[in-house]
Amino acid sequence: MYDIKALYEAHSVDEAIKLRLEHPDAQILAGGSDVLVQIREGKRAGKELISIYMIDDMRGVTLCDNGDIRIGSLTSFSHITKNEIIQKYINVLGEAVDMVGSPQIRNIGTIGGNTCNGVTSADSASTLFALDALVELTGENGKRVVPIADFYIKAGVVDIKPDEIQTAIIIPKEKYTDYYGHYIKYAMRNALDITTTGCSVNVKLSEDKKTFLDVRIAYGVAGPVPMRAKSAETYIKGKSVSEENIKEFSNAVLEDVNPRDSWRASKALRQHLCVELAYRAIKECVSLAGGEL
Ligand SMILES: Cc1cc2nc3c(=O)[nH]c(=O)nc-3n(C[C@H](O)[C@H](O)[C@H](O)COP(=O)(O)OP(=O)(O)OC[C@H]3O[C@@H](n4cnc5c(N)ncnc54)[C@H](O)[C@@H]3O)c2cc1C
Repeated sequence: MYDIKALYEAHSVDEAIKLRLEHPDAQILAGGSDVLVQIREGKRAGKELISIYMIDDMRGVTLCDNGDIRIGSLTSFSHITKNEIIQKYINVLGEAVDMVGSPQIRNIGTIGGNTCNGVTSADSASTLFALDALVELTGENGKRVVPIADFYIKAGVVDIKPDEIQTAIIIPKEKYTDYYGHYIKYAMRNALDITTTGCSVNVKLSEDKKTFLDVRIAYGVAGPVPMRAKSAETYIKGKSVSEENIKEFSNAVLEDVNPRDSWRASKALRQHLCVELAYRAIKECVSLAGGEL
């Protein structure tokens, strides 16, 4: 049974904004795989909901004229994984969201919901951080775009104003061109399990494949919100592609990450995972980029 006070349905972004202004206490409902579970558990019982699920304009992946990739916030995980633009240019994102829950959850769950819930374990988030993604928000005064790292304020809290909804995720062209990415989700079992720690890496090598021109590495569940490991990134930039350097890079992540003890895993295990996943993910990226170790 779902204890819901009222359900309002928006069929356009403008209508959603109007409903947000008319019902300031109402919660946005996309696929509902977080919200409806919480309501059934009694956590948000008696709430008003604004469903945005019927806004078809917010669904799909587009390669923009300037080369940026635009993912509508209502795009489901299974859509993202199967999309040709994603597969061609940022396959790592399709692979990452293919690790979410189960086929049913991947069909109903949206990338907007996965980022707007503000959860550090969200399987899309670390890859979006490693891609330097931008978040598009639309409100009564139009659109604004914020870097994903600024979108996350603290655990469970993101930068959405009372009149806004998230309308798209944008991956700028220069952030994916010539980069090769890999995501590793460590969880206790292969399906239907929340990430213990997840690591996403993006690598750009020199033309001769012997030097790291740029590396971006991000984690889920290495802190209260998804995060980058900037010390490791700074260390590896300009260094030669070697076993020694990727070991140093992996150890350097400990300067940035800040995992905690939880019933799922100890801080020590998560620190170990951060180092090991960095090592394995960057190795895979080097191989994808045509480099040799
Ligand atoms: C059995 C099960 C297994 C799961 N496994 C995983 C997993 O392995 N990995 C993982 O990352 N997640 C997992 N999840 C969590 C969930 O499926 C994802 O977080 C999903 O992406 C949420 O998307 P949704 O469209 O269903 O969001 P909803 O439940 O509709 O909304 C989630 C939150 O985001 C807000 N919101 C949604 N869209 C917008 C928008 N466009 N603008 C503003 N606010 C918005 C809502 O108000 C709500 O606060 C699991 C859930 C279940 C039930």
